[in-house]
Amino acid sequence: MNGSARIRALLAVTCAAGALGAPQPTLGDPPAEPPVPVVDLHVDVPWQVHFKGRDRRLGEGHARRETLVAGHYLGIVLPIYLPDQARPEGPQIEDASAVLATIEAIIAANPVFLPLGAARAEPGKISTFLSIEGAGAFAADIAQIDRFIARGVRLISPNHAKNSRLSSSATGEPAAYGLTELGKRFCERVYEQGALIDVSHISDAAFADLVPIAAAHGAPIVATHSNARAVANRPRNLTDEQLRLIARSGGVAGLNFHAPFVNGTNEADVDDVVAQVDHMVRVAGVDHVAIGSDFDGGIVPPRGLGDASALPSLAARLRQRGMSREDVVKIFSQNALRILGWRPAMDAKSASAAGGARP
Ligand SMILES: [Zn+2]
Repeated sequence: MNGSARIRALLAVTCAAGALGAPQPTLGDPPAEPPVPVVDLHVDVPWQVHFKGRDRRLGEGHARRETLVAGHYLGIVLPIYLPDQARPEGPQIEDASAVLATIEAIIAANPVFLPLGAARAEPGKISTFLSIEGAGAFAADIAQIDRFIARGVRLISPNHAKNSRLSSSATGEPAAYGLTELGKRFCERVYEQGALIDVSHISDAAFADLVPIAAAHGAPIVATHSNARAVANRPRNLTDEQLRLIARSGGVAGLNFHAPFVNGTNEADVDDVVAQVDHMVRVAGVDHVAIGSDFDGGIVPPRGLGDASALPSLAARLRQRGMSREDVVKIFSQNALRILGWRPAMDAKSASAAGGARP
């Protein structure tokens, strides 16, 4: 499990980084600001290594050891992505176990990563977290999700690009349903077990079905890697109403760097990303935007944001545009840490039982 001690330790690092942001005035050039730490909600290196044959030592791609360090990564969510096409009959629960084993091998092969569930932060090291992207296989036995949550999975999407037996997809065949009845039970179970549902790939109808379930569990709604549809009209992006619902739940939307999701075309630049940030912050508020780069997920990154090492230039651009350092730190790490540290409140029943037990 990811202990809350780890989240507290990571938050302390980000608070220190935020506090360092007001350098004393000096003569001559202003001193460069200290780096902004990054906690990225979606980096697809497990897919590259498990399914595409990339070396587990991460010597290539957007998220290499060097680029993660140069980008000042403090935390990274590694998805157990189960591609719809993994098998003719669709992915199976055993595939999730196999990808998790690959993630452990990646972490072991790269000393820059702290082990899953490490209790504390370490300077210069990257904390690792788990998600599941495309959990349709769990329709075979939703109780199997418990052991993945116990292993540290924090965020779970009920489908990927196609509809699953749990949920219809933002990019699936038109469907008359959002969450299926089984899908609703699955989402309830995920919340009860202390993890969160990731809405990044679900349909609008499934999002609407999830809202009351999340509210009943006091759970924040999270889109790990989706932008604003008002800026780039793609079904994978979020409507303004969805952004407001995410904000009202205390959740986040993680900024995705895939050019078509940034500005609707195959070419984007850093200022197009800034336009997404501006819109998402205006609609949802600065406490509800995070980073979910989708690096190594087959994306076309914007010019100037070609890999993980470029995050500091996005931070610098936001600062140049007048965003406070505190707000940049929220977007780059603190909002994601709040989500990763979420735990269900004691429910009414166990609360009253605990009250009854008191002398
Ligand atoms: Zn995705």
